[in-house]
Amino acid sequence: MPEPLIHFVAPLVVLLFCGLTIKKSLILSSLAILPDLDVLFHVHRSITHSAVFLILICIPIVGFIKLKYPKYFTDSIIGSFVVLSHPILDVFNSYTPILYPLYRNSVFIVCKLITDQSNISNLRFFFEIKIMPTYFSLILPNTDGVVFSGLGVGISLVILVGIIAKWRVENGKSNRKDKR
Ligand SMILES: [Zn+2]
Repeated sequence: MPEPLIHFVAPLVVLLFCGLTIKKSLILSSLAILPDLDVLFHVHRSITHSAVFLILICIPIVGFIKLKYPKYFTDSIIGSFVVLSHPILDVFNSYTPILYPLYRNSVFIVCKLITDQSNISNLRFFFEIKIMPTYFSLILPNTDGVVFSGLGVGISLVILVGIIAKWRVENGKSNRKDKR
């Protein structure tokens, strides 16, 4: 699975790029981690990794928010897409029950381009959709789970610099406007 940090950071970048405020982007991006909370029940890659299940959960929540808190309606739709980004990222990393129970197998999309480092023109492209039956088994005791890795931290640091730069630019603009 991509680590939770990557699940959080990927939608964060998209939301910031779409022009949402940093605060709102941080809050909505944190929703992307929710599917992995199945580990609290000692199951991983459970039904919370099914896009079908997540859509069925999100529709009534969005409907409720539209009725009760209409000003957050758009946010609730964005939040739903953020949650859905989780199984989409996972399906490119390992077997994920993304269409369960409509499609009862777990899917793993392998997609990579490999080169020979001594001859970079020697490119080999791999694409394969792997399938395996879905069974939601309990996590074995003492099984390690990565919360973040060096790669995740590195990516996050680069993005953090971008967020600080955006914040500085925005604040600089508003300060200049105030002075006028
Ligand atoms: Zn996951």
